[in-house]
Amino acid sequence: MVFRHQKSQEVNEECGIFGIFANNRTEEISRTAFFGIFALQHRGQESAGIATTNGHEIFMHREQGLVNQIFTEKNLSELPGHSAICHTRYSATGASIKRNIQPMVAYTRYGEIALAHNGDMVNTPEIRELLGKKGIDFDTTSDSEVLLRLISLSDKPTVQEAISQAMSVVKGAYACVVLTKNEVIGFKDPKGIRPLSLGRLEDGTFAIASESCAFSTIGGRVVRELEPGEIVTLDKNGVSSVQGQKKQGNALCIFEYVYIARPDSNLNGVPVHLARKRMGEELARECPIDGCDLVFPIPNTGIQAATGLAEASGVPFAQAIVKNHYIHRTFIRPNQAMRENAVKMKLIPLRELLEGKKVVMVDDSIVRGTTIGPTIDLIRDAGAKEVHVRIACPKYLFPCFYGIDTCNRDELIATRMSEDEIRRHIGADSLGYLSLEGLFRAVGGDAENTCCAACLNGKYPVEIPSDYKISK
Ligand code: SF4
Repeated sequence: MVFRHQKSQEVNEECGIFGIFANNRTEEISRTAFFGIFALQHRGQESAGIATTNGHEIFMHREQGLVNQIFTEKNLSELPGHSAICHTRYSATGASIKRNIQPMVAYTRYGEIALAHNGDMVNTPEIRELLGKKGIDFDTTSDSEVLLRLISLSDKPTVQEAISQAMSVVKGAYACVVLTKNEVIGFKDPKGIRPLSLGRLEDGTFAIASESCAFSTIGGRVVRELEPGEIVTLDKNGVSSVQGQKKQGNALCIFEYVYIARPDSNLNGVPVHLARKRMGEELARECPIDGCDLVFPIPNTGIQAATGLAEASGVPFAQAIVKNHYIHRTFIRPNQAMRENAVKMKLIPLRELLEGKKVVMVDDSIVRGTTIGPTIDLIRDAGAKEVHVRIACPKYLFPCFYGIDTCNRDELIATRMSEDEIRRHIGADSLGYLSLEGLFRAVGGDAENTCCAACLNGKYPVEIPSDYKISK
């Protein structure tokens, strides 16, 4: 049986969502929304969309491509209104086709509504089948349409109650923003797997975003992370909140701290850059680098961990690889051959820093192990005498079903090879991974009990699909 998740050959992220209700900023809303979603570009580079409303109708523009390729002065000027939701997408589920681009719009008993979604639900095939038997046709292959359909089909008196009803049916990870003609609504799943926070701009306008970096970009600050199962409404009266579904603990994706989120974001009160620096400090204790001349990161997500490792080890730090920021993350390439070639186009080693040295290269994680080997080759070609690799995360051993595209376990290098086999495969002189305990300590608080780490320890916070068996 081919399971629906077994489709990708690559390591991918998920999606970024943003919503803003700004009665008092009518002329600026599409522009503000643009900068809000632009700040979340790192979460998905396949497509993006903005939906706005002026209180009478919903306007929308969405396309494949990067945010700043899609939106122009002209098409932003054709998105009038006082509130907006936006989406930037990598397709964790649903094919990479134009009609799956979000936001999605539906005509409902609550009027026209638009929805943007981040995450991956585990029981949508069953819901699709059930609704199909009732004569409901789907326009897309996306999980998000299932949510939108459930909301549309509800007979509850308010859209918030319809959302709550839909939340009682779907299982898995979801963080969403919904636009009605009078409100922007944000909600997340009862375990809080995907991040979603409330922010406030200097003029008092409220916004909702996957990460707090979106608020800083438009002159705002994070107020708080939404609670698992919470529904927050922004309207002309300000902010209100109801518990859509009972909170079932807290299971925020720990990979947000490791790799996904921007370092200037703050997740559940923890600045991401500080968590990453502490991962490096923990690595220094667990996998010492005595006798090395230089520590350097694979930019960008390895930077803070490398700083922490270097400081705690008393070894000089330098940015010995320069990244060409105009070549986007390699995983947007459609096949492996192109992706490996993209490493050379994207990462430029500095020979003057590396030649004749015993160096330590720090990366955030090894998932499929396809890009780290070519990077080590570059470092050796630039004259490094020894290349020691330190990974600021434990071995990635289990597939993710909640929105990160790593659902075929055979593709995960740590499931197929021992640590020494991986070391030889990638061509490193030594290899050290951070322990799970070290990662929890680095994130801080009660991370062991408040974060999902299923891809590292196999403890899934939401039951995984019954037709997927993991052999340990
Ligand atoms: Fe994040 Fe891993 Fe959990 Fe997926 S399985 S939500 S990547 S921690």
